Amino acid sequence: MKLNSLIEENFRLAEIQKAALRKLKIKTVKDLLYHFPVRYGDTSSVKNIGSLEGGENAAIFGKISGLKTSKAFRKKIPMAEAFIEDETGKIKAVWFHQPYIAKIIGEGAFIKAEGKVSERKGELYLSNPKIETVSKLPIGVGDSLFGERGENYTLYPVYAESKGITSNWLFHKIQKAFSSGILDEMIDPIPEDILKKYNLPSLKTAVIWIHSPRRKKDAEAARKRFAFEEIFFIQLEKQKEKIEYEKNPSAVIDKSEKDLENFIGKFPFKATNAQRKAISDILADFKKGRAMSRLLEGDVGSGKTAVAAVAVYAAATTRPNGQSFGNLQTAYMAPTEILAAQHFESFIKYFSYLNISVGLITGSGCRKFPSKVNPLGWTDISRTQLLKWVANGEIPILIGTHALIQKTVNFKNLALVIIDEQHRFGTAQRQKLAKKSALAPHLLSMTATPIPRTLALTIYGDLDLTLLDEMPEGRKKIITEIVLPNAREMTYEKIREELKNGRQAYVICPRIDEPDPSMEMALLAKSVKEEAKRLKKEVFPEYEISILHGKMKPSEKEKVMNDFKDKKIDILVATSVVEVGVNVTNATVIIIEGAERFGLSQLHQLRGRVIRSNHQAYCFVFADTKTDKTLNRLKALKEAKNGFELAEYDLKFRGTGELYGQKQWGISDIGMEAIKNIKMVEAARAEAKNLIEKDFSLTAYPLLRQKLSHRQSEAIHFE
Ligand code: ADP
Ligand code: MG
Repeated sequence: MKLNSLIEENFRLAEIQKAALRKLKIKTVKDLLYHFPVRYGDTSSVKNIGSLEGGENAAIFGKISGLKTSKAFRKKIPMAEAFIEDETGKIKAVWFHQPYIAKIIGEGAFIKAEGKVSERKGELYLSNPKIETVSKLPIGVGDSLFGERGENYTLYPVYAESKGITSNWLFHKIQKAFSSGILDEMIDPIPEDILKKYNLPSLKTAVIWIHSPRRKKDAEAARKRFAFEEIFFIQLEKQKEKIEYEKNPSAVIDKSEKDLENFIGKFPFKATNAQRKAISDILADFKKGRAMSRLLEGDVGSGKTAVAAVAVYAAATTRPNGQSFGNLQTAYMAPTEILAAQHFESFIKYFSYLNISVGLITGSGCRKFPSKVNPLGWTDISRTQLLKWVANGEIPILIGTHALIQKTVNFKNLALVIIDEQHRFGTAQRQKLAKKSALAPHLLSMTATPIPRTLALTIYGDLDLTLLDEMPEGRKKIITEIVLPNAREMTYEKIREELKNGRQAYVICPRIDEPDPSMEMALLAKSVKEEAKRLKKEVFPEYEISILHGKMKPSEKEKVMNDFKDKKIDILVATSVVEVGVNVTNATVIIIEGAERFGLSQLHQLRGRVIRSNHQAYCFVFADTKTDKTLNRLKALKEAKNGFELAEYDLKFRGTGELYGQKQWGISDIGMEAIKNIKMVEAARAEAKNLIEKDFSLTAYPLLRQKLSHRQSEAIHFE
């Protein structure tokens, strides 16, 4: 048996089993060994047949006899019957509607049965128990079920199964593989000193422990090791990327304090301490002559754009190296056209007095500020013209969507790349932007996605982290209310008060789960239209109501957003397209319909739409179900101080995968276990960093190097 040999070369398989293994993604012996149990059962909780009592649920082991099919009662339900016997007693088992059971189990077979003990006329029987054949009976209950080596194991593994492949089958095949000596082929890539330091089992031991632990502790230690391993390799990759990126020479941007103060002094507000700290982190990076890679993470409304504006200012007022003319350029990428247009507007405000041009490029057109005819406004220009001015360096600031990373966009002196709402972009896209210049541009990523610190350290391991953990002065906490169906009317009246005071409102329609994305868009559009109609007719006839959804043309969307900004619209009924970054300060109310269908962090981001001014803001979370679980979850939304707290909450109480787009990050279930453990993540990161700093090419660690390059080629394949 070889690790990389195919399962079917080593075991005789029926067609149904081959199909099941394909489904479980088990092709090779190695895949089999890496098919880890999802949990462990404990035979010490198994009962003696002699001690069973009516009404309880029990698991028993025994020998089967007296198999036959028959018809039950007057209704003539087909059924199978048999007796199960161990050294303490005998019990009858019946399977209604499953006469075939009598045919698939052989007389005299050893089985494990689990089910309810029923009682009829003083006699006990098992009704419809789940059964599985086992190769051997435990030697007395509480003793070893699988212990063919005569040891006292009581834990047995339970695996993800598929029709034709049971846990028991998997267990025995894995034991066979073990006894073939295959474990000697498994060489541990993790250096021994690291394993020792963190008290982790070696690969060989961990593989044994995870499949046949003697104690719970062993299984846990094994899982911990594999979780550590996964995070360790991600960190090795990230630390390598980071050092590689930092090796590139970059433009030196060195601005005087006074100069920056001047620029910041013109803001219509006082910068927060967190903003100042972020600005000084960035400007310190700029001076080094090495490419910055920094992540600015701050809750919605914490003022990331102003921080970005200072960075842009510093670049746009710096001459390219050795030149007495021209400016360093910035590319500023946003995830949607609405956002790009919004940043374009606010940057005009930041930069108009400086005589610095700003360009906008999106799929639906290009703009330039200032316009020749109106030096205070912008003008539409052709793409060709805009690209020409970007390529010859005349436009120092270019804002845009994905259109920015197309091949045809070339810069003369690109020195800074800013990516807003970073979680929307993959590493590959980031790299594309970074490659648009001879000198590596400084990279500033910004995100409001509240993710737990452990996850941020892992997936953004190649970035330095700056937190904007302070809201602008005077902001009031949003009042969040969870509204059950019977309180709807009352809530609408409260909202009417706000509208009367001249405020505006968002109504977000629920997420629609539909596998086909274009279908989902159509359904959402429909629900948005219907809700708008209903509100106009039944609730707010006196107010102007408009809609915004993904099926609208970008130009239509923009018109609606502008009308909303200009207060021509009072209520905007929308899908979650308004989720990211949109900024309308007079909108102080947000209603979220079908809230239970959104993740907590998405709800938090939606709520962030109304934290843009110093008016008291309200978020009404409309829920249709009132199970405790849903209500508790929504309550967390009400109580949490910030997005990070919510993320930690979700990490603790919900499945990890579903929430953080686990697939997207490429972290396995076992890896996500590590994400719950800050110490482990920090240890994996520190060790990886240390190794890469000492030995960038991992010359002294050929196994690590090999596994790393294997992972990378798999990742490319995956993309
Ligand atoms: P986000 O971090 O979500 O991107 P924005 O940068 O869009 O937030 O800022 C939200 C709003 O807060 C904007 O209207 C912005 O002008 C304003 N703002 C930013 N910084 C401050 C501050 N220090 N004091 C008051 N208002 C601020
Ligand atoms: Mg923003």
